[in-house]
Amino acid sequence: MQRTIQSELEEITRQGLLRRTRLVSGRQTERVTCNGRDVLLLCSNNYLGLADHPALAAASIAAIQQYGTSSGASRLVSGTMELHEQLENAVSDFKKCEAALVFNSGHAANTGIIPALVGRGDVVFSDRLNHASIVDGILLSGARLVRYRHNDYRQLGMLMEKHAKGRCLIVSDGVFSMDGDIAPLAELVILKRKHGALLMVDDAHGSGVLGSQGRGSVEMLGVGSDVDVQMGTFGKALGSFGAYAAVSAEMRSLLINRARSFIFSTSLPPSVLAASLAAVELVQSPEGDLLREQLSANTRFFRDSLAEAGFAIPDGSTQIVPVVIGSADTTMKFSEELLAEGLFAQGIRPPTVPVGTSRLRFTLMATHTHADLAGAVERITLVGRRLGVV
Ligand SMILES: *Cc1c(COP(=O)(O)O)cnc(C)c1O
Repeated sequence: MQRTIQSELEEITRQGLLRRTRLVSGRQTERVTCNGRDVLLLCSNNYLGLADHPALAAASIAAIQQYGTSSGASRLVSGTMELHEQLENAVSDFKKCEAALVFNSGHAANTGIIPALVGRGDVVFSDRLNHASIVDGILLSGARLVRYRHNDYRQLGMLMEKHAKGRCLIVSDGVFSMDGDIAPLAELVILKRKHGALLMVDDAHGSGVLGSQGRGSVEMLGVGSDVDVQMGTFGKALGSFGAYAAVSAEMRSLLINRARSFIFSTSLPPSVLAASLAAVELVQSPEGDLLREQLSANTRFFRDSLAEAGFAIPDGSTQIVPVVIGSADTTMKFSEELLAEGLFAQGIRPPTVPVGTSRLRFTLMATHTHADLAGAVERITLVGRRLGVV
């Protein structure tokens, strides 16, 4: 018998995995109203608080007045506007690359770029904890997927010896979205060179935050010239929306000709492009440096305090702070009780993370105050004790 939609939903519910959206009212600042309640936001990727920055809003409004509300077509039809080119020039300067190409979202970038680089007969070597959109891109490409243990470049080396064939691509998050740790990019570069492979880094969580002037994990680890595609997004630290590939001029031409999410989709509108452009400028300014200093002070305080309280926090140093709980049920209960205490943090469970590693994922913002975070640590510890987690 054909399974019904209802029975499928019941099955998801039975597994404790039913997801719902939560309505947030007002602006995306460090405090929001969630289901009518004022809460401290501890699960936003708006790391520098730019989603609410007047410079971005002003740029966006001015762009609508000058250019209107839509690009009206895909880039290869009539949808390439001056702002697309200005933004791409700004991104290639920012990333110190020859060229850049803007995509409509990080998901669209990964599902467009990877099938443009590899196909049937080729092999992609992918970290097990890479973002879902990378996995989607690989599946779409038809290339063989070989996964290596998280950040385990020794295993990657052995797998490459064994399975390298056709054109090979190594792909990794720069900062891992669920674990908050940083990829061993120097080691990936050695393997890439040894096997003549391409290397792609998804820096959705590193751009704007890591490296000098926020240039990202690739710049921080000094491997820029060896990374073939630096993908990044505008929707997280940069407070806007969309994504880009920072690449060589040659690679840009290939992507324009082969990346289907670029070819067959209406391009980003002026309002979004202008906000992104303002954000790329802002993160490189002294104000950007100040915001990054605040973010890293907040990160240190929050990580140290929770570890001291006895929580299991995997090694790391970034603004993404996972607290591994284990069971999906306890994790969701924890998250509900935190909400009742005025703290909004997401529980993350399968299939986003492997079974048995459900976690609370806290993300910090530059705009959290010390008092916000000290109060949060106190309440997290209280709930943790109540649930027998610490
Ligand atoms: C968020 C994210 C994406 C997707 O970017 P969107 O612009 O939100 O579609 C891709 N990769 C990683 C690592 C991400 O965290």
